[in-house]
Amino acid sequence: MAQKIIITIDGWSSCGKSTLAKQLAKTLGYVYIDSGAMYRAITLFFLRNHIDWTDKVQVKDALGQINLHFEYNEKSLQSEMILNDENVEYVIRDLVIAEKVSDVAAIPAVRKFAVKQQQQMGKHKGIVMDGRDIGTTVFPDAELKIFMTADIAVRVERRFKEMFEKNPNVSIEEVKSNLEMRDYIDSNREVSPLRQAEDAILLDNTHITMEQQLAFAIKLVKEKRAELKLMQNA
Ligand code: C5P
Repeated sequence: MAQKIIITIDGWSSCGKSTLAKQLAKTLGYVYIDSGAMYRAITLFFLRNHIDWTDKVQVKDALGQINLHFEYNEKSLQSEMILNDENVEYVIRDLVIAEKVSDVAAIPAVRKFAVKQQQQMGKHKGIVMDGRDIGTTVFPDAELKIFMTADIAVRVERRFKEMFEKNPNVSIEEVKSNLEMRDYIDSNREVSPLRQAEDAILLDNTHITMEQQLAFAIKLVKEKRAELKLMQNA
């Protein structure tokens, strides 16, 4: 059996990271972990409980009350985010959460809380995790790192279509400004800002199909496995 590795997929908001990560995990028989869902669930908890996240004591206390885990749903065929025994997979996709999540994710204590759990999930390898700092901070030694990008207009259109299906009241302007705001905060925060890791491979999917991007990623996995095998046999 091929050696299991860790695959990280980082990049800008809405450039298809989760689509690729899910397909790749399915093809390889790996576990897919959506790290953004964890920051979204924490944001949901903070909002519901009126936590003032500029107050370190309140943040620490709130994090102590949060239990996060993923549960596989046989119907949707995907892992879903569970916050303190409640399935929040759908509510965390709301624009209300998207508007605050980058502020919450910039808080050092929040990042420490999430990163620790993410590292635990990768202990046995065989995972594909997507996010913003997975290749730089969570798994700096991951065997394969991909950094995704796409033109902003394409990203806005993709996210708008996705959100419009759930909420026809959402406007394209709202979606665009949310993506731009998140990208700005995510790449300018002090702790683990969004960056392409030096050893990450850039994947710009503006002009390629989902099938092409999956084929590209699988080729990278095969090359990496061959390289690791050679190193083992050396
Ligand atoms: O991936 P998704 O768009 O759901 O992530 C939501 C937000 O969570 C991002 O805009 C970012 O602020 C934060 N995030 C992060 N680090 C990660 C994953 C997500 O800061 N590894």
